[in-house]
Amino acid sequence: MHIDTMTPGTLAWQTQALCAQTGADFFFPEPGSSVREAKRICGMCEMRPACLDYALANDERFGVWGGLSEKERLHLRRTGD
Ligand code: SF4
Repeated sequence: MHIDTMTPGTLAWQTQALCAQTGADFFFPEPGSSVREAKRICGMCEMRPACLDYALANDERFGVWGGLSEKERLHLRRTGD
C-alpha cells in the first residue's frame, strides 16, 4: 500500500488493494531497478482500474500504480493511449 501518499480519507478501493498485503517495497523500486514484480501483482489486483485512475487523477509521479510504471503513466497522459 502506498502509505506515504494516503490521505486521511482513505479510498475504498485501497482497502482491497493487493499491494496492501505485499508491502510497498515492490512498488517503489530504486531508480533503474525492475518493476516486473510490482506489475505482476498489479496484474492480479481487482482494484487495478481504480488505482490507475487515482494515480492519473492525483498526478502520482513515483512508483508503480495500476500496473504502470511512472514512465508508462507519463506516456499515457501525453498520448491518451
Ligand atoms: S493495481 Fe497494483 S498498485 Fe494498484 S492497488 Fe493493485 S496492486 Fe496496488
